[in-house]
Amino acid sequence: MTKMTPLIERNDLFARSYTPPALGLPTAQTLIVSCLDHRVDPAIVLGLRLGDAPVIRNAGGRVTDAVIEDIAFLAFLAEQLSGGQDAADTLFEVAVIHHTQCGTGFLADPGFRHQAAQATGLAEAALEASAVTDPHITVKADVERLLTSPMLSPKVSVSGHVYDIATGRVTIVADARYPRGAEVAE
Ligand SMILES: [Zn+2]
Repeated sequence: MTKMTPLIERNDLFARSYTPPALGLPTAQTLIVSCLDHRVDPAIVLGLRLGDAPVIRNAGGRVTDAVIEDIAFLAFLAEQLSGGQDAADTLFEVAVIHHTQCGTGFLADPGFRHQAAQATGLAEAALEASAVTDPHITVKADVERLLTSPMLSPKVSVSGHVYDIATGRVTIVADARYPRGAEVAE
């Protein structure tokens, strides 16, 4: 028995009309970083299709060391796929999306945080750092963290956005910029 049975039935419907996409650059030229919350699935919220954009999800949609490492690897891969060092000046835009009503917000409460640390073995400081109480503030901080990382390719731009659970709308909070501060032309 598995709870996957009804989902695998949905997959059967999916596979019947499926055409495999070729390996190549993401067609939306975007990489999404977002929360793992089941209410904020970027594929549905942003209408992503297969091959459009890689998506990295974790609690809060936070820019962690692991996320930065994944982005560094994906930039290298994109560079290879687009023809190596002589390829285009830009690879893709990283769109960091935080959302309202994020479950990580509970971690701002010291009592809750202490209990969570006890139960999971995670450090209280790490839990506190991962909390999204105001997504407008945390998303800007995470955009800066990524832009100032020495691991970020100069060919990757970064933007910040907030998704509102109540309305279903995504708002741009930080326009795309390159690591050296240049604005991205439309
Ligand atoms: Zn969340």
